[in-house]
Amino acid sequence: MRSISSNSYSKDGNDSHTELTPKLLRLVTETDPILHNPIEEMPLADICSDETKQIVADMIYSIRPEQLQSANTSYNKAAGMAANQWNINKRIFLFCPGGSDGEVKVIFNPTYKPITLTDNLVHESKLATVNQFTNCARESCFSVPYAYGTVERYAHIEISYIDDKGKQHTNEKLSDWQARVWQHETDHLNGILYSNRQSGINNGPNCTELHRFQTKDELENCPK
Ligand SMILES: [Zn+2]
Repeated sequence: MRSISSNSYSKDGNDSHTELTPKLLRLVTETDPILHNPIEEMPLADICSDETKQIVADMIYSIRPEQLQSANTSYNKAAGMAANQWNINKRIFLFCPGGSDGEVKVIFNPTYKPITLTDNLVHESKLATVNQFTNCARESCFSVPYAYGTVERYAHIEISYIDDKGKQHTNEKLSDWQARVWQHETDHLNGILYSNRQSGINNGPNCTELHRFQTKDELENCPK
């Protein structure tokens, strides 16, 4: 089975082997059903297919700050983006916690589990009993325009995924902001928005103080 070269996903689009021409993807609206249903795991053959290679090239092109602006999105930079936010029914997200003008990692079939600080064991209890292993921070989402909320997330997680070469990764750990981005994007692929609880859909993370605005200017000029 052919593995996917990371060079194929070059942001410069100068890969001599594939010569993919990326196209600008458009985000779906907040109420679109593709944002509210879990996306199935991808078989390895699908991950390594030419169709998926084209989709990933489109995603990497479309997450650039200048393309986000061209697509008239609500925010200027992304820390990550899930495929279903662009109406793509594939279990893929882009991971760029340094901002979408930095390194962009392609993640297939992501999962996460919380880990405790003290004994490094996976904590199987419900969220309400593991408050000492969570923290709260502000999040925004391209699928929830002109809004932000304070969201409780696990501070430390154990992740699994397949990378852009088709290699399976397990038992890797993330903390703090990177863990937050990972949870946010994986939740997307599980049909969950950070704002779900505040919107009366009871399957999201604990989000308090969801603030919505009418325009990008109102959001950017709101008191921090
Ligand atoms: Zn989001």
